[in-house]
This record gives sequence, C-alpha cells and structure tokens, in this order.
Amino acid sequence: MPDVGLREWFAVGRAIASGSLLRYDSGASRTALFEREMAAQTGAAHVLAVNSGTSALVAALAAAGIGPGDEVLVPAYTWMATAAAPVQVGAVPILVDIDETLTMDPEDIRAKITPYTRAIIPVHMVNAPCDMDAIMAIAKEHGLIVIEDSSQAVGIRYKDRHCGAIGDLGVFSFNRMKNMNIGEGGAVLTSDERYFIRARSYHDLGSMVRQHGDRLNEPEFVGMNMKVTEMDGAMLRVQLKKVVPMLRRMQKRRAVLADILQHSSEFRVTPHNDPASAVSLSILAPTREKAIELTGRRGVHNRLRDSSKHLYTNWEPILNKRTFHPKMNPWAWAKRDIEYTPDMCARTLEILDRTCIVTLGMRYPTPLMAMVARKLAGQR
Ligand SMILES: *Cc1c(COP(=O)(O)O)cnc(C)c1O
Repeated sequence: MPDVGLREWFAVGRAIASGSLLRYDSGASRTALFEREMAAQTGAAHVLAVNSGTSALVAALAAAGIGPGDEVLVPAYTWMATAAAPVQVGAVPILVDIDETLTMDPEDIRAKITPYTRAIIPVHMVNAPCDMDAIMAIAKEHGLIVIEDSSQAVGIRYKDRHCGAIGDLGVFSFNRMKNMNIGEGGAVLTSDERYFIRARSYHDLGSMVRQHGDRLNEPEFVGMNMKVTEMDGAMLRVQLKKVVPMLRRMQKRRAVLADILQHSSEFRVTPHNDPASAVSLSILAPTREKAIELTGRRGVHNRLRDSSKHLYTNWEPILNKRTFHPKMNPWAWAKRDIEYTPDMCARTLEILDRTCIVTLGMRYPTPLMAMVARKLAGQR
C-alpha cells in the first residue's frame, strides 16, 4: 500500500479548514472530484465513494435489486465480506471453488448455477485478476449480474481494462491493507445509470431529497447511511495519485522475480490471467509439505492456507447460517435447502495448501531481491 504522509495531512487539514465536512455542504467538492477522477482513471461512467468495501458490496447488491430467494455465487477464497454482503440483502451466498490462479474457477461457476442464481461476485484476489472473459461470457449466457469485488485489486488491469469496471458493477476497498489506504473506505463503480442512482440513493438512507438533477424516475426506498466525509475525499484524491506509480514499480519487480522463479525445479509460479500486467507473485508447490518447507525460506511470505477469514472454512457465521436475529434468515427464504460443510470446496483448500506468497520487497533494491529469488529457485 502507498505511504500515508504529509500530503494526506495537508489535504485533510485543508478540508477541515474549509468548514465543509460533508459532500452536501456548500463549497464542498473533494468527494465529487475524487469520484470524477476515479471514473476517468478506470473508465467507469460512475463512481460512488462509500465508507467501506463491505458497504460498497451491499450497496451494489441493493442497486442491482438482489434479495430474498436469490443465490449469489462467491469464491470460497476471499475476505468474508464477499459472502456476508449477500446475506445483508436477504440473499444466500453459494460457494465456488478457485483454480490455481487463486480466483473463481469458471468451470465451477457453471456447475453451481441453479434456476435461482441471480449474480456472480468474482473476486480479484491479492492483485490477481479473475478470468473475466470467461466469467462475463457465462454471465451473459445465463442472464446473471456480475459484481466484481475488486477490493484487493484497486488500480489493477486485466487485458487493458480496469478491474472493477468490467462487470455490471464493481467494488473497491480503501481500508488500511489495500492498494489505496485511507483507514476505512470504499467505492461502487458502474456504467449503468440506474444502478448508480439506486446505489447513491441506498448509501444515503434512500433519500431522494437531495437535488442531483437526475432524469430517471426511481421511487424512494429505505437505505443505509454509508456516506464519506470530505476528509475521506481529500485523502482519496492524494492516494489516487500514488496508486498507479506504486503498481508500476511492483509490476516491474514482479517481472524480474517471476522470470527467475520460473526456472525452479521445486515449484511453479502461480498461473496468472493476464501475465503481461501481473503485479502479484506467488508460487505453487507440488505438495502441502513442500509448501510448508518453503515458508521457512527467505523471500517467501506465507502459505495462503494460513490466511484466517479469507478461507470459507473460517466463516463460522456463514457456515452456521447465523444472523443477528433468528427471523432474519435468508436461508429460510431460499428456494431450496442450502448446506455448507467444511469440505465442500476441497479443491480450494488443496490449492491454498500448496500456494505461498512471494515477497516483492519493495523497500529493497531490485538486485538484492533478485539474489533472494535466485537462491529460492535453487540457482547461485
Ligand atoms: C477488504 C475486502 C473487502 C471489504 O472491504 P472493507 O473495506 O474492509 O469493508 C471485501 N472483499 C475483499 C476481497 C476484501 O479484500
């Protein structure tokens, strides 16, 4: 993630000094400017800043009209928020296996589609894009809505398009772990004007009282408050300028290291859905034991099997179908029995067992990290 420093400090200070703390205050502009700049950068017609990535997912689902009785396909490897969001709108998440790219396996998407499937939420994990060509083709064939969860891939491109701006809707997170960091924050992206107006309405209590000058005749419905402050908007504008140069440096470093690691006789470099613009780097060992051994070596960060709530087996509230109230039960509203078991996505577990993240070491010079990679690959 980019550093947060003096530039953010000044930008937030100026927002406070302006006296306009919210986008609807007179003289406020930072949030709207950020949205316009992000739209220009990604190619999405509309961007809506919200207070978290989770909020963005819920707003996107609400905008698309997903609700009780609907099934939403989510990968078995993702932050739990992806599976929790459909529950918040009364729908049920259906788990889909990943393939070696660490993203949804298009073949398993096909296998999990039922007459009740309404949407797919493909997740671009650890900066690795999904096979969006295959996923968009399946969605078109079956009339499904695609909501890209690009929380972990802000600024990442897939075949010269921008992750988050390929599906019907897309979602970003700007929490402190992500490519753009303002502590907590998110955004909804779409090029569909009706989805945008519904998302914007939902994120502000469903209120249509604010004058946006829309022509669409969308009736008011009950929403939430997911608005951001002008301090958020100010910080986002600064972070937006930093993300592309940061990712470009990472992409260059990744290319050097992947080139070295691909010659290893002990492991493979994880396949990537768009190798030319790849930023993420992980390796795939032939066995679980080998992967555990690799985690002890320099340059290897961690094994993905050890990534807590990113694994469906650790989504305790989902597996137990537990919400805050017994009658708020999307699974009772589903049109068929949905069961979750710890071994239902065995292929996902098997892949995560063998996959290790490789450190790009961006704070160190490239020759040093190249040396680490050569050693890891068994060369001198
Ligand atoms: C971080 C993340 C989210 C949620 O974002 P928050 O801003 O933390 O609410 C959703 N999906 C994925 C894949 C994430 O990594």
